[in-house]
Amino acid sequence: MNSDLVIYNTLSRKKEKFEPLNPPLVGLYVCGPTVYSDVHLGNCRTFVSFDIIYRYLLHLGYKVRYVRNITDAGHLEGDRDEGDDKFSKKAKLEQLEPMEIVQKYTVGFHDMLRMFNTLPPSIEPTATGHIIEQIEIVKQIIKNGYAYEVNGTVYFDVEKYTKEYNYTILTNRKLEELLANTRELGGQDEKRGRLDFALWIKAKPEHLMQWPSPWGNGFPGWHIECSAMSHKYLGDEFDIHGGGMDLAATHHTNEIAQSQAYIGKQPARFWMHTNMLTVNGTRMSKSAGNGFLPMELFTGDHPLLNKGYSPMTVRFFMLQAHYRSTLDFSNDALEAAEKGYRRLMNAIGLLEKIEPRGKKSTLKLQEYKDRFYAAMNDDFNTPILLAEIFELVRLINSIYDGKTAISPEELTELSEMIHGFVFDVLGLKDEGSDSQNNDTDGLMDIIIDIRNKAKEDRDFETSDKIRESLQEIGIQVKDGKEGTVWNKI
Ligand SMILES: [Zn+2]
Repeated sequence: MNSDLVIYNTLSRKKEKFEPLNPPLVGLYVCGPTVYSDVHLGNCRTFVSFDIIYRYLLHLGYKVRYVRNITDAGHLEGDRDEGDDKFSKKAKLEQLEPMEIVQKYTVGFHDMLRMFNTLPPSIEPTATGHIIEQIEIVKQIIKNGYAYEVNGTVYFDVEKYTKEYNYTILTNRKLEELLANTRELGGQDEKRGRLDFALWIKAKPEHLMQWPSPWGNGFPGWHIECSAMSHKYLGDEFDIHGGGMDLAATHHTNEIAQSQAYIGKQPARFWMHTNMLTVNGTRMSKSAGNGFLPMELFTGDHPLLNKGYSPMTVRFFMLQAHYRSTLDFSNDALEAAEKGYRRLMNAIGLLEKIEPRGKKSTLKLQEYKDRFYAAMNDDFNTPILLAEIFELVRLINSIYDGKTAISPEELTELSEMIHGFVFDVLGLKDEGSDSQNNDTDGLMDIIIDIRNKAKEDRDFETSDKIRESLQEIGIQVKDGKEGTVWNKI
């Protein structure tokens, strides 16, 4: 097992050597989607980023339990317990049961992530499936003195907590600053402190999703579900907790506080956060009108897009930025990614057509491999890995053109390396290797047969015409000792 992996830890604000608590086991928890609307592109980026992290940990030989939850209850519109429940609101709007909303958007979410070729998590628990566990934790936090009940709602006592613990440990923000940015309490408020947040919320009789509890009928606060589910499936302490960077200041800060108040332990060793998306340099958002959905990106059906881009082009594009950097969408960048992705798949396709010769190993493939690992071991640096992979693409093209020799052993090694990193670790797949491509293969066999026949008959006009016409549509035909081969340019 390769043990040189370093990961940037939001908690310490630096890169740290990754050592699992109980090797070879790794516990990974990622905050999943709130399934009340179509998954947006920013979320897809987060889940693609953690898919690569999951894949690389598996590649290194770790036995990973990857838990990614589905938030299907308790998420209010405001981050600080204001507003309506997102599911009930949408259910009223679409005249559906809240669970129909949950089902519809969970299925849509899974479909979308399948298009991006992400691996499913080991466990995908739901908030509504863990109401009992959430109630138990709230009871214990009250018992430990860090929460209080007012009229059927239970609040976390942040002021009490800050006397013993550092509430802003994750973001390193100043408590005074946080207070200054939080609304002052009025006479109507049940909270004792401005920063207090709800662990359990009293439901009005008409509220569609509610459960009995020691404090009357209600529903859980958003933050408590992740504490309950990560604790249940990964234990008191686990290795990595991740999510989008917008979750750090409130959701993850409150998760840490809940765990400390519950069992006196910080839940995760490493906290990892993915950065946001921008479009032509401005932050992507629905209100700015530049927030396209993944499906719009695939079809090109958006005023800002020149055309559609395939899911693997978009995945490739995402890999070109480090997960902690912003990712800027523009037509130029997407078109460049499309070309890069095709070049890569084309080179991998050539591997099968290369005839090895010679016995000696001269290509120093181990050096390439070391650089691949060095890139990924440096906090999963996919842009550097891609740059290194393109060095190999150049090498493959040079071998295919007959300028460089490769021995049979080296060809096997090269093939394994490139398949391992491109398909297994980066999770790309060849979109051309579907039925459409099989049709092309069949057609090309027929065309090459006809051309060979023309050459045999010394009808060079026809054979040249076929070669030139294919060239025009991006198919290169080459005649060699072993016969005629072709590839897409
Ligand atoms: Zn969460």
